Amino acid sequence: EQKRKYLPPLASGEKIWCQLFSEPAGGSDVAGLRTRAEKHGDEWVINGQKIWTSGAHYSDYGLLIARTDPNVPKHKGLTMFFLDMKSPGVEVRPIKQANGMQEFNEVYFTDVVIPDSQRLGAVGEGWSVSLTTLMNERMSIGARLATGVPEMFEFCSNLMLEDGLAIDDPAVRSKLASWAVKASGLKYTSYRAISALSKGERPGPENSIGKLVSGLMLQDIATYAM
Ligand SMILES: Cc1cc2nc3c(=O)[nH]c(=O)nc-3n(C[C@H](O)[C@H](O)[C@H](O)COP(=O)(O)OP(=O)(O)OC[C@H]3O[C@@H](n4cnc5c(N)ncnc54)[C@H](O)[C@@H]3O)c2cc1C
Repeated sequence: EQKRKYLPPLASGEKIWCQLFSEPAGGSDVAGLRTRAEKHGDEWVINGQKIWTSGAHYSDYGLLIARTDPNVPKHKGLTMFFLDMKSPGVEVRPIKQANGMQEFNEVYFTDVVIPDSQRLGAVGEGWSVSLTTLMNERMSIGARLATGVPEMFEFCSNLMLEDGLAIDDPAVRSKLASWAVKASGLKYTSYRAISALSKGERPGPENSIGKLVSGLMLQDIATYAM
């Protein structure tokens, strides 16, 4: 019932969601997060702070990971919830960036009430729910990142060096060939991941490849072009 209610407007972009994971003391080590969720009957009461939440200032809903048990090893005491970002006790404070833009936020929770029906996954299973979310995110970011390879081919085809076109230079050709192989590998790795996903499989660590390899390749191509 909840999937029917929340997923179609999420997929169509009618409702915007944000990801409330990072905290001032829980960035790379997100399992060290301190935001607490305490159970009171059929409800959870949330207190704490998140940071770097992209789009929280215009989001309708948020996916929130919180500590539900401080007495077990840190990865095991986490639970995932979702909440209406207009809930009483949620305060969103945009962070002003050096370039003048405001894309990220601090989000404060003071006695925010979330019904137990808005828990995603079992109590204590928040770490595994967050990994599934992040793997999907890595796949979608990696799959849509431009590689820069077609643009570099075009650039080298038109660039005149002292002894002819750059595309005819063996050193340039060798670089182009190695980027083309990587770009092709990325394309087929993302096709494989999408086809696994369409069969209901959970995205695995292979989804980090796209983001990692294309990010480094874009930097390499831009440096070489300059
Ligand atoms: C564009 C962008 C959008 C984001 N959007 C969101 C969002 O929507 N929701 C959300 O929850 N978060 C978001 N984040 C936050 C992001 O997930 C965190 O920035 C990230 O987890 C790193 O945390 P941190 O910034 O606190 O850095 P830190 O964890 O403080 O790390 C600082 C530096 O120390 C290094 N470091 C950390 N730990 C170790 C270690 N053990 N050994 C060696 N080196 C280490 C890191 O590599 C890094 O270079 C976003 C970040 C960016 C850049």
